[in-house]
Amino acid sequence: MPHAKRATSSATILSGADVRTGLDSAVLQQAVLDHLYYSLGRLPAVATPANYYRALALAIRDRLQQRWIRTSETYFERGRKLACYLSAEFLLGPHLGNNLLNLGLEQAAREALTALGQDLDAILDCEPEPGLGNGGLGRLAACYLDSLATLQYPAIGYGIRYEFGIFAQEIRDGWQTERTDKWLSGGNPWEIAKPDIAYEVKWGGHTERYIDDDGAERRRWVPYRVVRGIAYDTPIQGYGVDTCNTLRLWSAEAAESFDFQAFNTGDYFQAVDAKLRSETITKVLYPNDEPAIGKRLRLAQQYFFVTCSLQDMLRILDLAGGAIEQFAEHFAVQLNDTHPSIGVAELMRLLIDERGLDWDAAWTITVATFGYTNHTLLPEALETWPLPLFREVLPRHLEIIYEINRRFLDEVRACFPDDSARVARMSLIGEAGEKQVRMAHLACVGSHAINGVAALHSELLKASVLSDFHALWPERFSNKTNGVTPRRFLALANPGLRALLDETLGASWPVDLGRLRELESHIDDPAFRERWRAVKHANKQRLADYVQAHTGIVLDPDWLFDIQVKRIHEYKRQHLNLLHIVTLYQRLKTYPAFSFPPRAFLFGGKAAPGYFTAKRIIKLINAVAETINADPEVNGRLKVAFVPNFSVKNAQLIYPAADLSEQISTAGKEASGTGNMKFMLNGALTIGTLDGANVEMRDEVGAENFFLFGRTADEVARLQGEGYRPADYLAGDDELKAVMELIGSGHFSGGDSEVFRPLVENLTQSDPFLVLADYAAYVACQEGVSAAWADQEQWTRMSIINCARGGKFSSDRAIAEYAREIWGLQSVPIQV
Ligand SMILES: *Cc1c(COP(=O)(O)O)cnc(C)c1O
Repeated sequence: MPHAKRATSSATILSGADVRTGLDSAVLQQAVLDHLYYSLGRLPAVATPANYYRALALAIRDRLQQRWIRTSETYFERGRKLACYLSAEFLLGPHLGNNLLNLGLEQAAREALTALGQDLDAILDCEPEPGLGNGGLGRLAACYLDSLATLQYPAIGYGIRYEFGIFAQEIRDGWQTERTDKWLSGGNPWEIAKPDIAYEVKWGGHTERYIDDDGAERRRWVPYRVVRGIAYDTPIQGYGVDTCNTLRLWSAEAAESFDFQAFNTGDYFQAVDAKLRSETITKVLYPNDEPAIGKRLRLAQQYFFVTCSLQDMLRILDLAGGAIEQFAEHFAVQLNDTHPSIGVAELMRLLIDERGLDWDAAWTITVATFGYTNHTLLPEALETWPLPLFREVLPRHLEIIYEINRRFLDEVRACFPDDSARVARMSLIGEAGEKQVRMAHLACVGSHAINGVAALHSELLKASVLSDFHALWPERFSNKTNGVTPRRFLALANPGLRALLDETLGASWPVDLGRLRELESHIDDPAFRERWRAVKHANKQRLADYVQAHTGIVLDPDWLFDIQVKRIHEYKRQHLNLLHIVTLYQRLKTYPAFSFPPRAFLFGGKAAPGYFTAKRIIKLINAVAETINADPEVNGRLKVAFVPNFSVKNAQLIYPAADLSEQISTAGKEASGTGNMKFMLNGALTIGTLDGANVEMRDEVGAENFFLFGRTADEVARLQGEGYRPADYLAGDDELKAVMELIGSGHFSGGDSEVFRPLVENLTQSDPFLVLADYAAYVACQEGVSAAWADQEQWTRMSIINCARGGKFSSDRAIAEYAREIWGLQSVPIQV
């Protein structure tokens, strides 16, 4: 790719700028003082920990700057393919600790702050978390950014700069309440606004026909409204390398010129009102991990960030002097679920309407550019838009989608003659009831690659929701099992284990996670096992302190820590876990001599604000916790705690403290899971079903090191096909029956027999996720867990093996597969 010569290079600007770039603790200390004074206007004598946080963050951002600019400069000069990860969510977690780790600056920062009379851990704790995602899908995007930078791949993340991220959860009287997340209120030292990188976003209106200068017939979109998207860039520093990639988040602003009409007629307040309406587009993240059906604002958010991102790619291509026909050689665009799938129609619009390409050329480029990652099989979670809404918001895109569909259905008819049912099933427009635009179908038709996120999930995709697409284009399908970054979720979250791994394996394991295998040669060394247990014990004490500070509940780190943290969802079956707890409680109350190793059950997770069943499950967890924790007949062997506001920040305390990881979704419902991997890498054993990536984890670790229970995906489908009757399971199991009656009686709710009635009725009458069908197997499997825990030496061996065989689940492995098999991406080393 040709490039303009720069007048000044990074090197000439930076000579002698030590206080901005120096890496030793004395210079860092000076840099913090400089920022306190010059950027915050504070003297050390009056500076708060939050001020120190901000000053240190700015000092660290300075140290990223040279790498960041050099990285962009190098990508531009080398002109290699750029991976563009489009995601409506990035659940990043705090930046400071991660950047210190990736730059190798933790020790220097700690010394610098100590010299200033501050404690680094207290300073790190001041960072509000950028919670720009709901859960697994957004966290996956964040892990992938970390791996892309660490593996030195040219890449950019594109998303939305929500002013309010995922709500903060508080527990009042056992119920979830939501508080708005004002993560930007103290300023965001990590981002740099780039107001000169801004694009127009059209909205509504109509389309019209016109004849261009060459006499060709064309379409023009005449919008009702125009807003502007402004770029805010955040550095994504790789671990142990000089690559520093960019996360570019778009923020909506009023397009001033457009409202001049209102100014001219003197209606100043109408103009201001339009400005406010424009800016609502990026106000708030939808707090749901399923689509909010038919929400105009959500469609606006999706189109807004996708068009800004695609226009940005065109600008980059133009700057480099690349030909528009070469677009797909310059950019590989990955769609993280269907949220950005309007990109298929938008790239067609940009290429045809704005760049003058003909349909066939534009279509070839579009399909070569996009890849689509599917994250769910749940039919209610597949995004569709009511046709009238879609037409009102994006009239030109609807025309384009009709034309894509016309040509696509011709292809289907050619491959499968006389199969009108298939044509109806595959159409981009659903005709059953109210007409709908089917976004998953648009994503499939417009992408050369379609992947699921775990082996089982990819197989189920091909056999169920996308089976027609698989029959047409089997070559487009592949699997890319999810992964998690070992930097944040092992090295940063578990410093005790990091030290032991560094000492045992040397320093390269964070970028070569397969090396964890070498731990296995130490499992028969009692001294090593003792150290392994000491690390886990310290992590449990750290979590116990946190739980006591936030809930008042006191936990004993000698007990088995049994943990389930994830979004609250019926398919994830937190209520199955509860039924086991109530079973133990009931046994203890009935037979006081009943004996098992003491266990602390911990839960955490947010419920979508409108998901009433999930909220009632939270209430039941807290009600059971309150009853058990206050009862001296049982609280010497059982404790239950709900950790409020599960987030990346407290996740880093929780995963490393687990002995047992609960991964108990109804088989076939969890696409992959990534929490399961974080627990495993931190040495927890898993109790789980054959669902999502659990299947591959068990393959890696061996059946003897995994607590498996429950019906398989096939058995679940069969049972539901035959007509599942939960009452049969109730009738055949007196203990289960007693447990359900106890919950229904008001025993855990101060005699109130109404509050949990909806949950009891849900389980006993319909039980859509087969909780009762798997109950007996689960309880029996938990007895196996207790028996295994009784042999601490053997448990420790199993814990070490779980960590040792977790290397496959590094996001580095996943990203290397995407780069090679979907994106055709080459790494580009950066030299500062
Ligand atoms: C990893 C993670 C998730 C996903 O957890 P699952 O158990 O895979 O559902 C959700 N939220 C946070 C904060 C996480 O770190």
